[in-house]
Amino acid sequence: MKIYKAAIIGLGPSGLAVNKILYGDTPKEIIAFENDDINNRDNFFGFWLTDWMKPFEKIIEKKWHKWTIGDKNINITHKSDENPYCVISFKKWKNFCLETKNKLVVKNKQVVQYFPIKNYFKIITNDNKEYYAENIYDSRSTKERKGELIQHFFGINITVADNTFDEKKLTLMDFTNENNILHFIYVLPFNHNKALVESTVFSKEVFQMSWYREKIIDYLNQKNINEYKEVGEEKGVIPMFFAEERKSPYSNIFNIGIRGGACKPSTGYAFSFLIKQIQLLKNSKKNYVNIHNFLEKKMDQIFINFLKNNNENGQSFIKLASNLNGNEFQSFMMGESNFLTKIKIIKSMPKLPFIKELFK
Ligand SMILES: Cc1cc2nc3c(=O)[nH]c(=O)nc-3n(C[C@H](O)[C@H](O)[C@H](O)COP(=O)(O)OP(=O)(O)OC[C@H]3O[C@@H](n4cnc5c(N)ncnc54)[C@H](O)[C@@H]3O)c2cc1C
Repeated sequence: MKIYKAAIIGLGPSGLAVNKILYGDTPKEIIAFENDDINNRDNFFGFWLTDWMKPFEKIIEKKWHKWTIGDKNINITHKSDENPYCVISFKKWKNFCLETKNKLVVKNKQVVQYFPIKNYFKIITNDNKEYYAENIYDSRSTKERKGELIQHFFGINITVADNTFDEKKLTLMDFTNENNILHFIYVLPFNHNKALVESTVFSKEVFQMSWYREKIIDYLNQKNINEYKEVGEEKGVIPMFFAEERKSPYSNIFNIGIRGGACKPSTGYAFSFLIKQIQLLKNSKKNYVNIHNFLEKKMDQIFINFLKNNNENGQSFIKLASNLNGNEFQSFMMGESNFLTKIKIIKSMPKLPFIKELFK
């Protein structure tokens, strides 16, 4: 009976990060289970460059020092020389994380359950096979929950006529006027003639693909982009609620990624946080690390409750963006804002609804 040093459940970004960051420089034998074909997965993960992401600079696809937030009436441009907005593609992350010294066995199977036996675990897969490992890194997560907000999106990669896009500035959030949902367009101009254009919604249920597509077409028409070629697409659902499983009672079960509480639910940013989580686990004797501090979590919860109960078409994001400069805004998004910035953030929020949410 072979007992692996660790079993990774799910080879999404966090499972891959475990292989690279925790075991990549060791000769240990690791087994990973993934029920999808990750070779078919590709999408872009955005984040602002922080110290903990600097070791991965060489696989960054593109950096932007300017970004905009607005709607049809207002457009705020932020700048940051030190902390640009960056993207890494899933494909590059995967290749980087699989280039390691350790011995990794990947099983294209679904894990059905696992349970402890002495000081290791028995793992059972959907074909009724059994595997054994000393440590479990589990990244399975619930993406939707009844009554809770989710961030859902669909985007297309397009090529267009030369000099259509300003490749130095990305559109982070361009809000549109909708009934009872919050919707914005996100544009990553990789080049003057190539971009990802995405329609993103905060609501309780996912929509038909045609809905997002219509919004993208409307947006492109408004920008006089009538001819384009689609070269790819991405879609997804990100929970806007805190994961329940975060901490396991077993010291050698590690809940990772979104399951381990890496996501900042008010924004859906998770990628750089899940990397931070694995980096912190490397230097910790515990099976759980806090990625977001208490105050940030509280502010997130209040903000999400506010969004659940108020259709404001992005006005609080716009107000926040107009009251902060680029460095302050990115520090807030990356969970690194100082006390003064936090005060500015609280001051930017609509007072009465927020006080109501605070005392709920
Ligand atoms: C298209 C897309 C774009 C995103 N863009 C951004 C972004 O720009 N910036 C950002 O910060 N965040 C972004 N996110 C959010 C977040 O970073 C991702 O959701 C990220 O994939 C979370 O990683 P994870 O490892 O926690 O989970 P997942 O990526 O969900 O990985 C879990 C893996 O486990 C597998 N699995 C599940 N159950 C089993 C089982 N029983 N047995 C075996 N395998 C199993 C799944 O197939 C999956 O591959 C995006 C998400 C999506 C979907």
